[in-house]
Amino acid sequence: MKHCSIHGCPGEYVKQAINHLVTLGGKPVIIENVPAEVCQVCGDTLLDIETVVAIDTLLTNPGPPLHSVPVYAMPEKTMAA
Ligand SMILES: [Zn+2]
Repeated sequence: MKHCSIHGCPGEYVKQAINHLVTLGGKPVIIENVPAEVCQVCGDTLLDIETVVAIDTLLTNPGPPLHSVPVYAMPEKTMAA
């Protein structure tokens, strides 16, 4: 298994399918079931170059979404700190 690349993190990457967040036309878009390697300690995520290319290809002509999800914003006051 690959050791986490974040300095000081003792974690290792584990292959899993993730919900990958990207921005399309200024709006957040989620791509489900993206194969990735995720650090089990800090959550750092790695994508294969093949996966990145596949996502780019998908977003070139995404078609209608499978479904939509609720999006929430943090309250303004939490941004001041
Ligand atoms: Zn880590």
